[in-house]
Amino acid sequence: MRKHVIAGNWKMNKVLSEAEAFLENISGKVPENEKVEAIVCAAFPFLPALVEKAKGTKVKIAAQNMHFEESGAFTGEVSPVMLHDIGVTHVVLGHSERREYFAETDETVNKKVHAAMKHGLIPIVCVGETLKQREANETMSVVETQVKEALKGLSPDQIGKTIIAYEPIWAIGTGKTASSSDANEVCAHIRKVVGEIASKETADKIIIQYGGSVKPANIDELLSQPDIDGALVGGASLEAESFLQLVEAGA
Ligand code: PGA
Repeated sequence: MRKHVIAGNWKMNKVLSEAEAFLENISGKVPENEKVEAIVCAAFPFLPALVEKAKGTKVKIAAQNMHFEESGAFTGEVSPVMLHDIGVTHVVLGHSERREYFAETDETVNKKVHAAMKHGLIPIVCVGETLKQREANETMSVVETQVKEALKGLSPDQIGKTIIAYEPIWAIGTGKTASSSDANEVCAHIRKVVGEIASKETADKIIIQYGGSVKPANIDELLSQPDIDGALVGGASLEAESFLQLVEAGA
């Protein structure tokens, strides 16, 4: 049985005191069972403080991006070596906002996935179609290409450790959620693709999240779907109370 992974993607929100207060508020309240994993994806400046605060709790701390190079003359960038060194465990890669505003491509996502694996970070790879692509019936082919490109060159074992977040772009921050069956259909397709490029065993193991306007009111229905193993949550992860409700739904 796959566990549920609930990841809160704070994006470019909060200041340090708010980020720390959030962790204090959820401390001791995150379910301790093995069925659910809780991750907070925070901005770079908060990571060391949050890793420290999360010690001894079940909460893992993730970055929202990184460069694929290990070190060198890349002004303004943060490397996987640096993230691993401070105790970050996961990294969000290829979020649609990075693809749209920061020129992230399937090729750079693939390089970053390899770099994350090499340095002991678990990548949360985001894929998803635009509204135009959905209306043109291109969802499955767009998502399939993104998944194949992102995972290119990885061993089945590495693919099995990756988390994929299916996030239809039209559902992000809009209040519009894909219906749970539509979301499941795409997640099932991703699992099938993983089976083809890796193995059936890998496909059975890989965690596939849904993301896009997930909130306490719709999480149960989404998690009840057979191929949805968790959620990547933006807006509804900003308040400790609501994030806890999402994690509890996964437990
Ligand atoms: P949202 O964001 O939950 O606010 O729609 C999801 C995401 O971008 O990961």
